[in-house]
Amino acid sequence: MLNIILFGAPGCGKGTQAKRLAERYDLYHISTGEVIRSEIARGTELGKSMEGYISRGELAPDSIVVEMVRDYMRTHADKGCIFDGFPRTTAQAEIFDTMLDEIGAKVSTMIFMDVPEEELVKRILLRGKESGRADDASEEVIRNRIEVYRQQTAIVADYYTKQGKYSEVNGLGTMDEVFDRLSEVINKAE
Ligand code: ADP
Repeated sequence: MLNIILFGAPGCGKGTQAKRLAERYDLYHISTGEVIRSEIARGTELGKSMEGYISRGELAPDSIVVEMVRDYMRTHADKGCIFDGFPRTTAQAEIFDTMLDEIGAKVSTMIFMDVPEEELVKRILLRGKESGRADDASEEVIRNRIEVYRQQTAIVADYYTKQGKYSEVNGLGTMDEVFDRLSEVINKAE
């Protein structure tokens, strides 16, 4: 069963590629960012507690995000999954390993999509015009998300490198080119 983590800074293209990969490999796709946005849109208590973090471009608390994923896995454990935007801290990665272990599953591979910062900012601003996402509209919030990524998230790569599960692809080029690079890695994963 394939469990793939797509990894990289905000705007690197994880969401777009995750959707296509999920179709090609018949996997589920969970984006923790989307789960949070849908809680906010539905006006739930959980959503309300997350609003501040999202609008400032900070990470939501590990405990809440991990419970969201645990909940999702309760009904989506019959086939593999693409994890998009999770885990984003080493604490999340550790709990995630335990969670998967409990259901007899494991992470197959983490793939880092490498995109330079200026390109990230450009892409997110463009996306913001279409998506209407408030956290995509302000360059200040975008830069903060990239900074948070550097400070708290980039290190998660080390966690999977130690397990021999880390790969990198160039995230520049057409969507098809990036898709082919990702597929090449996934074809070798177990
Ligand atoms: P992007 O990758 O462009 O930042 P996402 O949709 O993945 O977009 O995430 C949007 C926001 O949701 C993040 O800035 C953060 O506040 C929150 N978020 C998403 N996933 C996590 C996570 N695993 N841990 C903590 N916060 C998260």
